[in-house]
Amino acid sequence: MQSLADESVVVIGAGVGGLSTACYLADAGADVHVIEKNEQLGGRASRLEEDGFRFDMGPSWYLMPDVFERFFADFDRTPSDYYELTHLDPHYRIFFKDDDAVDITPDLERTKRVFENYEDGAGEALERYLDKSRENYEVGMKHFVYEDRTQLRDYLTLDVARQARGLSLLGSMQGHVENYFEHPKLQQIMQYTLVFLGGSPTNTPALYNLMSHVDFNLGVWYPEGGIGAVIDALVDLGRELGVTYDTNRPATAIKGREGAFLVDTPQGPLRPDLVVSNGDYAHTEQELLPPESRGHDADYWESRTYAPSAFLLYLGVEGDVDELAHHTLVLPTNWEDHFEQIFDDPAWPDEPAYYCCVPSETDDTVAPDGHSALFVLVPIAPGLEDTPEIRQEYRDQILVDIATNTGTDLRDRIVFEEQFCIEDFASRYNSYDGTALGLAHTLRQTALFRPPHRSKEVDGLYFVGGDTTPGIGMPMCLISGELTAETVLEDYGQPAGQ
Ligand SMILES: Cc1cc2nc3c(=O)[nH]c(=O)nc-3n(C[C@H](O)[C@H](O)[C@H](O)COP(=O)(O)OP(=O)(O)OC[C@H]3O[C@@H](n4cnc5c(N)ncnc54)[C@H](O)[C@@H]3O)c2cc1C
Repeated sequence: MQSLADESVVVIGAGVGGLSTACYLADAGADVHVIEKNEQLGGRASRLEEDGFRFDMGPSWYLMPDVFERFFADFDRTPSDYYELTHLDPHYRIFFKDDDAVDITPDLERTKRVFENYEDGAGEALERYLDKSRENYEVGMKHFVYEDRTQLRDYLTLDVARQARGLSLLGSMQGHVENYFEHPKLQQIMQYTLVFLGGSPTNTPALYNLMSHVDFNLGVWYPEGGIGAVIDALVDLGRELGVTYDTNRPATAIKGREGAFLVDTPQGPLRPDLVVSNGDYAHTEQELLPPESRGHDADYWESRTYAPSAFLLYLGVEGDVDELAHHTLVLPTNWEDHFEQIFDDPAWPDEPAYYCCVPSETDDTVAPDGHSALFVLVPIAPGLEDTPEIRQEYRDQILVDIATNTGTDLRDRIVFEEQFCIEDFASRYNSYDGTALGLAHTLRQTALFRPPHRSKEVDGLYFVGGDTTPGIGMPMCLISGELTAETVLEDYGQPAGQ
């Protein structure tokens, strides 16, 4: 076990990656101080609480429980030391916009029958598909997610080549799914998880079929108290390990180098030995670092493929919304146009595919008696014009769409409403063009093609979070925290006791 005793570290940003790496670094003996520009910790996993309603503003799907187990086990704890989990049944409901609906439940035999109803042989094809995605998950997590391979030569060893051989690495998800299912609705069911990765079926590598193992086999869970309870757990764990936190304290510049950093903040400068930035990578490089310290120029950031932004409506409504499950997807039968309007020809989607989250279906503490709390999320292209008038018009369109396609008319019973969109992502999280998730997982932006954890230009400067490896999503950002801490330990760790 290595130790980082005597090193002081400032972590800029309290997203999942920042909170995770703070725990690992403090556990290794460093003196860790997290500064966060916003009024609360959690980053994109912020909470909105008003008028008796409580919303998780960002993540709402607790996936990959194994990753959370492993994270807490690294500190001799379990998630249940901090929060309890409920296995959701159904995992989610899908309303197709042609009067058809399906529930995907934890019962695989039942799901196979649902698939068989759409296409002869699809039940058995689902089983084969899931076998493959389980295998990809196991190999992928062990050899490519938990191990940070930062250079091409790391992939060229015999052992890695052997592990990679069985993975369907290349080709698109669209092609991969078509090998198993012909029915467009079944293809959609197998592909919707790509939205978690910020991609589309045509620009996401087939490797990510492992997401179906996550969804169908590992299941969809709800932490008691919502995702906010997971953030509280990370913060509490950090406190137990000695991490200190400052909210409302933005970093405005990073100067200097290892041993002699100066991090400017409105409350005065901090002078740590090492700095880890959890702010979006482009923001850190372009707005906090001087030009000679940046690993990438403006053209690089402009040429990246960004994950969608989102139009979000947080709604408190009178009465129940029983037609909707805790997680509900509403999908047009042809969703290519929506993906085109995100990635190829940016525009507010005419016929959107969207997601409704109704935590009050599971948790009666999130809304006052007799009320429901829900949010609606429409993925949209980052950088679109986002004015109050456009939002209002779109909000009206979405409420009509929900009434038409799910039978839930919310319009006359909304008692609390707040919107969040492109401009808010940019101003609240310093995100590039208002992307909700950061760099998409296209082939050119996967694994070693994502920007590195270790700055090449500035000794002692590191990066963590969704823009780095392994990538987007709370579980991946937890792992990113571990990988960043391992990188710091490689550079500055000493055998314990020294
Ligand atoms: C709407 C939405 C839905 C999502 N749904 C899911 C889901 O269901 N399941 C899932 O697993 N994931 C989901 N995600 C993705 C997941 O939330 C993110 O991938 C993850 O939380 C990002 O963590 P991060 O470590 O990259 O940090 P971030 O959350 O990006 O946090 C970075 C922090 O740095 C702060 N910061 C930036 N600049 C500065 C500065 N100069 N000084 C100080 N602080 C600064 C920001 O304010 C922010 O708090 C969703 C995300 C969104 C937005």
